[in-house]
Amino acid sequence: MAKSLEVEHPKKAFGWAAKDTSGHLSPFQFSRRATGEKDVTFKILYCGICHSDLHMAKNEWGMSTYPLVPGHEIVGVVTEVGSKVQKFRVGDKVGVGCMVGACHSCDSCANELENYCPDMILTYGAKYFDGTITQGGYSDIMVADEHYVVRIPDNLPLDSGAPLLCAGITVYSPLRYYGLDKPGMHVGVVGLGGLGHVAVKFAKAMGVKVTVISTSVNKKKEALEHLGADSFLVSKDQDEMQAAQGTMDGIIDTVSAMHPLLPLIGLLKLQGKLVMVGAPEKPLELPVFPLLMGRKLVGGSCFGSMKETQEMIDFAAKHNITADIEVIPIDYVNTAMERLAKADVRYRFVIDIANTLKSSS
Ligand code: NAP
Ligand code: ZN
Ligand code: ZN
Repeated sequence: MAKSLEVEHPKKAFGWAAKDTSGHLSPFQFSRRATGEKDVTFKILYCGICHSDLHMAKNEWGMSTYPLVPGHEIVGVVTEVGSKVQKFRVGDKVGVGCMVGACHSCDSCANELENYCPDMILTYGAKYFDGTITQGGYSDIMVADEHYVVRIPDNLPLDSGAPLLCAGITVYSPLRYYGLDKPGMHVGVVGLGGLGHVAVKFAKAMGVKVTVISTSVNKKKEALEHLGADSFLVSKDQDEMQAAQGTMDGIIDTVSAMHPLLPLIGLLKLQGKLVMVGAPEKPLELPVFPLLMGRKLVGGSCFGSMKETQEMIDFAAKHNITADIEVIPIDYVNTAMERLAKADVRYRFVIDIANTLKSSS
């Protein structure tokens, strides 16, 4: 049985939580643990809204517990550090992404891949070591073990930098791991949302040719002229899709809903790689023959390790990569969720926590 946060934890916290599968968010008083020896406590300034927050708020993956405070693109300023904290001081600009704990003794952890630890603890909606349920960044303060805290470089804006903590690492990691980061390669990005638009930016910074594959023809001009994509395919346009068959070394698929994989596999060259990062609520159909006939590979990727997350943030700061954001007050969050469900955001909502989250609201 999970212990009650109110009983167990001394720090008063305030956020907005989903209380049931409607996913509707409303004000919620809770508490966080005292700053432990290795903990960093920080005042949250901004938090991005990831589509995973929407999946979780509505229990679309069947693993949510309520009340649930979403948010795993969290940035802020350190207010307190534990006696054994080595990397951070009060006043530092920091962030927390998708996870806050792991076992640190399994093979994944030994290889600095805590994100693949079987006991990895998600930033919200997961059981922490002390038995309480973790709560995310649509809230005023955060307490996290320093291992799971990222330093935000000085030149990276906090608001548009926040989405890098999930959207950024989730596309950066597979580009690197699957070797789709070599200059001159051709990579497709499916779905031009929060993840997709930063995938375009990272891939371009790596010297890769990028084609966006989208359902929304009205994103074309911006993708080409503003985000720097080299070409744009409307997935329902069969002539366009046909003309691009066999041209891509890899594809990063960020789509949040059911969609056919066959046309995407067709876009790949011989031995091309289709990497799934989007997490639709139901299984997708995988046509096998086109894989066999081209020795093609379908893989997956789950955000990234802490080491890789810091590397990604530093790479983003060096190449001036941030998310294109719409900053919103907390009381707009339910409307934002509705718009996100309709892919109506250019390209990430970020909540202005410090200026709009008040416990009296
Ligand atoms: P998002 O901003 O909503 O973007 C998803 C995009 O997918 C939309 O903008 C839309 O792009 C496209 N899309 C939506 N519905 C579609 C449909 N029915 N058919 C085809 N395309 C559709 O979401 P996000 O925050 O980028 O997250 C995307 C997915 O990745 C979510 O499922 C999320 O849970 C998952 N995720 C996974 C990880 C991981 O570690 N693997 C981490 C973070 C998020 P167009 O308008 O261009 O078609
Ligand atoms: Zn996310
Ligand atoms: Zn482990």
